[in-house]
Amino acid sequence: MLSTMKLDLKKLRIVHYPDPRLRKASERITEFDGELRALVARMQELMESGKGVGLAAPQVGVNKRLILMNVTGRPEDTRVLVNPAIHEPHGSAEAEEGCLSLPGVNVQVRRSQSCRVTAQDLDGRPFEEVLEDLPARICQHETDHLNGVLIIDRMGPSDRVATRRTLKALEDSYKSRGPAR
Ligand code: ZN
Repeated sequence: MLSTMKLDLKKLRIVHYPDPRLRKASERITEFDGELRALVARMQELMESGKGVGLAAPQVGVNKRLILMNVTGRPEDTRVLVNPAIHEPHGSAEAEEGCLSLPGVNVQVRRSQSCRVTAQDLDGRPFEEVLEDLPARICQHETDHLNGVLIIDRMGPSDRVATRRTLKALEDSYKSRGPAR
């Protein structure tokens, strides 16, 4: 499935708002092949170099349901979730979030404090896990990306005012340079 996309992995870059690929609903992954592993490896590189705690495939311009999470920043702690789905959200907590696709934007986002996530691993084996606090937050943030949702859709009125200039600058930069290639 991925191979039909003729991905040139070395050329994958983090795409920035307002790239339209960040706004598309991503497709389920049905083939657990070497190309999926290669995509994950490239995403891990980009997540580490950006010092991100998570990365979703649409953020590298690939509209597939795949997310990476890393709470500690240690490479061996990277978790890969294919086709993740969030269930049983509980509680509510607000915290500041950033996003590698929205450089310079940090906003308060209210999310469920805990949730259960079901997903598949790189071999297609299903697993599930209960997440709380930061891992739950990252998982919700990254899963949002698979549905075309960004943190700026969830921010409150004061952050809307505070980020207006930064968002405008990102929009202007996209217009002048075009999408990342
Ligand atoms: Zn993000």
